Amino acid sequence: MPRIDTLLARGRTTSFEFFPPKTPAGDATLRRTLADLEELAPSFVSITYGAGGSTRERTHDLVVDILEHTSIPPMAHLTTVSHTRDEVAGILKRYRDAGVENVMALRGDAPADDPDPFHAFPHAVDLVELTREICGEQTSVGVAAHPEGHPDAPDLATDRRHLAAKLAVADFAVTQFFFETEVYLRMLDDLAALGCETPVIPGVMPVTNVRQIQRFAELSGAAFPTWLADRLHAAGDEDEVRRIGVEVATQLCVELLDAGAPGLHFYTLNRSTATRQIHHRLVEDGLLE
Ligand SMILES: Cc1cc2nc3c(=O)[nH]c(=O)nc-3n(C[C@H](O)[C@H](O)[C@H](O)COP(=O)(O)OP(=O)(O)OC[C@H]3O[C@@H](n4cnc5c(N)ncnc54)[C@H](O)[C@@H]3O)c2cc1C
Repeated sequence: MPRIDTLLARGRTTSFEFFPPKTPAGDATLRRTLADLEELAPSFVSITYGAGGSTRERTHDLVVDILEHTSIPPMAHLTTVSHTRDEVAGILKRYRDAGVENVMALRGDAPADDPDPFHAFPHAVDLVELTREICGEQTSVGVAAHPEGHPDAPDLATDRRHLAAKLAVADFAVTQFFFETEVYLRMLDDLAALGCETPVIPGVMPVTNVRQIQRFAELSGAAFPTWLADRLHAAGDEDEVRRIGVEVATQLCVELLDAGAPGLHFYTLNRSTATRQIHHRLVEDGLLE
């Protein structure tokens, strides 16, 4: 299966993100979602990793299962927080030996119960280097980008410099979700000014639940703009929230594609409906195949 950097060099990608389910019911939902979304012929799918190894086996097994039983190239997320170097090296070797060709190298967030969570790998860039060392040419390495700045950074300019340094050794990035095209374009301008031209795929989150998005935005440092919050709070019921969520995300995708984004990465939360509706509209408008 092709590496993601090869796919990006060929043209625009579409991709979907999933998390490893914890229960048999969650697993059944994900299987249905995967089958639904496989019909859209995504360029790749990505599977998240629970910080500290809380989903270590489930992420691994799902990635390998997708590799072996579907036509979609999988990307394994890996966070270094609370792991030793040996543990991380062991996880990377298993992916390499299973034939997995795409890894997203992440630092992760500090858990409350670990006094020294980043001892082995202070930053994600350290994992990019270890992945290159262990997986070599077999593996394309992606990283995370935070268009509105990472919440731990002292200021945006410092965060951009660290991001540019990370992108200089990675193959591509996927962004945290955001709701306004300018946020993404400003980040690209800042990166270009720092001499960075590595592809950055925008991450798109269709809103299906207002409280959930508010929580995600608080955790990740993403803005939840007032115009969107007002529209969603005025919605009569959940169906209207979903309708607005799909409409807003579709408009964002149209603008991002017009602006030349190298692909679209959808945060699915393991459901297919909103992503399918957006994809369908973009195909109808001739923006996706
Ligand atoms: C697309 C995407 C996917 C994600 N998937 C997961 C997942 O599967 N599991 C999960 O737990 N979390 C995931 N996250 C969340 C991510 O782990 C957190 O945002 C985390 O806080 C930062 O991770 P990072 O890889 O961006 O870290 P880093 O790139 O290390 O950045 C973290 C902070 O360190 C600073 N920094 C970076 N390099 C340096 C340096 N050399 N010197 C000084 N400071 C530096 C940065 O400015 C930033 O403030 C994801 C995020 C995104 C955007």
